[in-house]
Amino acid sequence: MYINLGEKHRKVGKMYNIAIDGPAGAGKSTIAKLVAKKLGYIYVDTGSMYRAMALACIRKGIEASDEENVIKICMECDVTINYENGVQQVYLNGENVNGYIRVEEVSNMTSAISVYGPVREKLVELQRSLAKKQDVIMDGRDIGTCVLKDAFLKIYLTASTRTRAERRYKELIENKIDCNLDEIEKDIIDRDYRDMHRDISPLTQAEDAVLVDCSYMNIDEVVDTIINLVNERKK
Ligand code: C5P
Repeated sequence: MYINLGEKHRKVGKMYNIAIDGPAGAGKSTIAKLVAKKLGYIYVDTGSMYRAMALACIRKGIEASDEENVIKICMECDVTINYENGVQQVYLNGENVNGYIRVEEVSNMTSAISVYGPVREKLVELQRSLAKKQDVIMDGRDIGTCVLKDAFLKIYLTASTRTRAERRYKELIENKIDCNLDEIEKDIIDRDYRDMHRDISPLTQAEDAVLVDCSYMNIDEVVDTIINLVNERKK
């Protein structure tokens, strides 16, 4: 595996890594990107790494339930990340796959294959090595509970399923993608259920995480809440 953060990103001194976990569509990536910009951190989107592996399985025509072959494909494929103009790009076997991993088919495959231990171990190793090099704000499902247990600040970001579905619906309609709100909500509920009930690193709020329910908060309010928590802790 290869991570290109460049020499200037080599980290020295105290680490201020921030972990953001939460269910699908809670706004983790939007918030994490904005907080990263304000604090001068690197934003690490771990979901996109799992998504790249899911894409590899879809392209090979493997069913998620075919554990042996899913693990084989995931162990063989090369997932790397790079930062271009400050934006994380995910490469699958050398190909930039950022443009292919956000569709519902990949989302559903991703939560189905991320239950397998070897798949998780491979990506957790990549994620930890990133956090050693520079202060990161990392989002996912197991960051506070597994990947960065010693994170300086842990946030559990959530919102009601309907709110999350409505936000996703609005985003798709804005991009002129035909969709149905109830189906989106059902997909979110199914995905959350799988993520919260798997045996290995299920999605759960870490004991020392701060719960932020953003159902009735706008983006700026959530970002300010996190920045205030960082500033309070740094005092
Ligand atoms: O965050 P995102 O929606 O891109 O994640 C897609 C899927 O990847 C999640 O539903 C979850 O199954 C899996 N995932 C995970 N652990 C992470 C990040 C994502 O299991 N740290």
